[in-house]
Amino acid sequence: MKRSKERVWRPKVKLLFVTPEAEELIEMAYRNCWQSKPKTTALKARRKFLEKCIKKGHLSPLEFASATFLIEASRVFTHQLVRHRLASYAQESQRYVEVKDPEYFVIPPSILENEEALKIFETAIRNSWEAYQKLLALKISKEDARYLLANACKSKIMVSMNFRSWRHFLKLRCETSAQWEIRETAMEILKILHRKAPGVFGDLYQKFILNKGQGELWTERD
Ligand SMILES: Cc1cc2nc3c(=O)[nH]c(=O)nc-3n(C[C@H](O)[C@H](O)[C@H](O)COP(=O)(O)OP(=O)(O)OC[C@H]3O[C@@H](n4cnc5c(N)ncnc54)[C@H](O)[C@@H]3O)c2cc1C
Repeated sequence: MKRSKERVWRPKVKLLFVTPEAEELIEMAYRNCWQSKPKTTALKARRKFLEKCIKKGHLSPLEFASATFLIEASRVFTHQLVRHRLASYAQESQRYVEVKDPEYFVIPPSILENEEALKIFETAIRNSWEAYQKLLALKISKEDARYLLANACKSKIMVSMNFRSWRHFLKLRCETSAQWEIRETAMEILKILHRKAPGVFGDLYQKFILNKGQGELWTERD
């Protein structure tokens, strides 16, 4: 089989909700700590102010804003995602939703570009999916038949985190040490959140998207 560019999997990331006027709200939280007033309401000044506060490691005001995404990716990915405990999740259930499509599986790029590996992978996925379908035909419940489904099976998951948690997630998952699928997802989330709140995500955007290391921004204080 030839290498097919159309089959390269990209996790789907859709922003469902973000706190309106998030940066303004976070600034209010910071200023409430010191009962200070901004000298100007200019966006640029607000963003500089937020960057300064974050750099100092004063992060709890970031918890006042949040963002919710709908993501479609493999169950390998969702298993890694849900390890992030300071978040809320709603995931497509294999107990209740039948996997009807034999193509509803993610093929990792390393396998896609290796003809022999791809054959092995596709045969195994097809066999397990067909066996799953046979169990369903024998009236075995979806929740038990699913034990046959591969980790590669796709899944739709909604995830909500506050901005502090998103920063933590992005710092771990945009690193090259993270696996490709969660890393690609994290990079996409970072681009979206940076558009919505550059004052909060600017340092991470500089480091991971623009590749400009800013080591001194990485210290967090409890
Ligand atoms: C590159 C990479 C490789 C990994 N490999 C493995 C692996 O091989 N095996 C494996 O099991 N996991 C692995 N993980 C998952 C990792 O151990 C974490 O479970 C995951 O990254 C979530 O991070 P977290 O706990 O900091 O996040 P969250 O659960 O969102 O927590 C955020 C922060 O809140 C605080 N916190 C939350 N809960 C507690 C608590 N109960 N007690 C004290 N403080 C708490 C901590 O400061 C924590 O950092 C890996 C992660 C990465 C990024």
